[in-house]
Amino acid sequence: MGIRDKVEQLCARMHDTPQYDTQGAVLFVDLEKRETQRKYLPLDVLRTYLGGRGANMYLLYNLLQDGREALDPEVPLIFGAGTLTGDMPAATRGNFTSRSPESDAILDTNGGDYFPSFVKRHGYDHIVLYGLAPQWTLLRIAHEEVQFIDATPYLGLDNLDLPGAIERDFACTERKDMALARITTAGENLALCSGIMGGIKAIWARGGGGAKMGSLHLKAIMVHGKPDEAPKVAELKAHNKVIGKKITSTSVIKNALKQVGTPFLYKPSRVLGALGTLNNQRTDWHPTLDADNFDPYRPGMDGCFKCPVHCRNLNDMTPEGKGGWGSAALKGLKGNASYDKAQADVEHGKQRTYNGIHNDGKFDQYDKGDGPEYVTVGKFGPMIGLKEPEHILRLNNILNDLGLDSASTGSAIAWAMELWQRGIIDARHTGGLDLSWGNYETVEKLLFMTAKREGFGDTIADSARAVERGKYPAEALDYRMAVKGLFQSDPHDARILKAFALGLSVATRGMDHLRNRVTLEINARINDDAAFKTELYGGTVAAEPNRYEGKEFAVRRCENTFAVGDSVGMCRFNTKLFNSPTTPDCGDFATQLTTATALEFTGEQLNEIGRNITGLERMINFRLGLRGKDDTLPKRWFEEQIEVGPFKGEKVDRKEFEAMKARFYEVTGLNAEGVPKADWHEQLAGATTGFAVRVELPHPLPGAPEKAIVIDEPVANVVALRDALARRLPEAREALNDHSWNVAVNGHMVLAGERDTALHHGDRVAFVPIIAGG
Ligand code: SF4
Repeated sequence: MGIRDKVEQLCARMHDTPQYDTQGAVLFVDLEKRETQRKYLPLDVLRTYLGGRGANMYLLYNLLQDGREALDPEVPLIFGAGTLTGDMPAATRGNFTSRSPESDAILDTNGGDYFPSFVKRHGYDHIVLYGLAPQWTLLRIAHEEVQFIDATPYLGLDNLDLPGAIERDFACTERKDMALARITTAGENLALCSGIMGGIKAIWARGGGGAKMGSLHLKAIMVHGKPDEAPKVAELKAHNKVIGKKITSTSVIKNALKQVGTPFLYKPSRVLGALGTLNNQRTDWHPTLDADNFDPYRPGMDGCFKCPVHCRNLNDMTPEGKGGWGSAALKGLKGNASYDKAQADVEHGKQRTYNGIHNDGKFDQYDKGDGPEYVTVGKFGPMIGLKEPEHILRLNNILNDLGLDSASTGSAIAWAMELWQRGIIDARHTGGLDLSWGNYETVEKLLFMTAKREGFGDTIADSARAVERGKYPAEALDYRMAVKGLFQSDPHDARILKAFALGLSVATRGMDHLRNRVTLEINARINDDAAFKTELYGGTVAAEPNRYEGKEFAVRRCENTFAVGDSVGMCRFNTKLFNSPTTPDCGDFATQLTTATALEFTGEQLNEIGRNITGLERMINFRLGLRGKDDTLPKRWFEEQIEVGPFKGEKVDRKEFEAMKARFYEVTGLNAEGVPKADWHEQLAGATTGFAVRVELPHPLPGAPEKAIVIDEPVANVVALRDALARRLPEAREALNDHSWNVAVNGHMVLAGERDTALHHGDRVAFVPIIAGG
């Protein structure tokens, strides 16, 4: 069944009118045929998965065709704003979702700035994009009006120039009466490490969204016109005040995020000896990249739509540029395990010394910009051997213009540099580029080559797939710091913090900290308060960060909470457990959801919904071929120990890790292949496709360790069921073809005519071996 039939089938199960006051439409956009239709999701979707990321998964599960490659235009790219996006302080976010061209897993990437709130306030909760546009297209959405505009004139424009060209041509101003999700040349050229830009720095970064959007020939989505007022703002107001206060009174937000942004994390990670350095060959690095060394170039902070935090540190290295904002903000800040007295009082006293990248007094557009985040500091600092703040700032500004994910791009360069160091690649592979650690000139050049897929840039543009695409020999995989084909997002080396390690291994989109990181594992006050810690995570969690016991409870609780946060649209920085135990939680979201939708929600229900969302993500990943063995870590972390710092000698013990993972599966309700156990799968299938047939097997099969599997795509009869089983369990195809197994449906043997034996939602099928001998 093709995408258009799938869309029609899904639309038949949807509604023509909103199911609650604040519900927006799902806009289906056939880019090839230039047709659109609007529908509204059933209430059951909200009750099971909420909106944003959760409802995106519902849409993807229903629209995905097994066996289609990620860049096939038949595979949809889905945008979803959170249920409360734009209506709650710091709820500025939305997700792009698809099959990832970069990794082996789902593409699910979260971003903020203004686009998600504009989409929501123009009347849409989701946009489902599919089909190859006959020419490069700018999709213009202005409330009910949807236009397909020729984007040829904008081809080749990157992130610094494209918004200006749109503003000029449509007489509008970004963030005032226009919001834009766009790709750069990197996306046009299908660079797998390219993202979708949503502002000067805001990016839907992870998983290759830029390439996926490029594969549809979609250059940008413009939401045009001032956003409407939020419909229930007055009713939401009282509790929004509580939420706003919780956010702005949280110490880490008040003292660090609002002052210097996420780069404040560099120092604690450095002190702990937990930095990803030289592709994780080391874990220490220079204090030159401590956040206060960026102070002289920081003129102030920026923020997303109506966010009270404004965590986005700006930079300006030009002679006219002002600096000093947030200077010494972290001085004397105590209370965190990593801010010991000596470190807290360290002052670098860094001065402005930058005189152009060639020290010749010449400046250009990359000497000023927005950022960097800590991820970029880590990936373009220690990870590739750079230690000057000015280098990081400039590379950050180039990455923003080129629309490259700094996590994947930095990791891909670090991987290449280690291969160069080991002699696995040489100048013949790199076209003469010298990939020595810390070679700034090469790195700057390589970024532009990556966006254009020129020379060795073509290899970096293949990101973690470089071996699969024949660019490196197979032995290169031993040094690839990726899980499920996605490079690690954050710069922390997780050999010490076992909860971080577990989280990175089981995260549904690959090796990414934003799905479930138990950041508070580095907080001494929480670790030392056993009762509080147990309450926080719903189970007993070992106090020591490097122990394994109970970490499954902490990761489970974080994964639930963050999935809910994404689905209501809340920024991760302001979601409970990511930075603080006191930021807004599922109880706060439940209060606002109840007001906004007139359906009753509780915090406990939301915790369960968070589990549903990740359960459905795992069901998608299973369809993409991922199994329990893919919830793992890079080899290096099991085999090489940390050589510095208070946790010198630490690594991840394979046996302990596997036991911790098994406990995580158990508390989550997953079987040994990492998918929801049959009972839970049946429930999720009922809520997602409206169809579930449980098949009992005579013995466990590869991919089906429970002796049972649930078929959740509508099948008409037993023959169609057999086909569906073979597709779902390719590794068990031979066993499933065993015709010595009889079939029973609801306890009745099918003696003849499997094609004539109809199947319905809720039926039970059993494969029964014919007993031989006698
Ligand atoms: S905290 Fe920062 S990233 Fe999050 S919504 Fe606010 S400004 Fe945006």
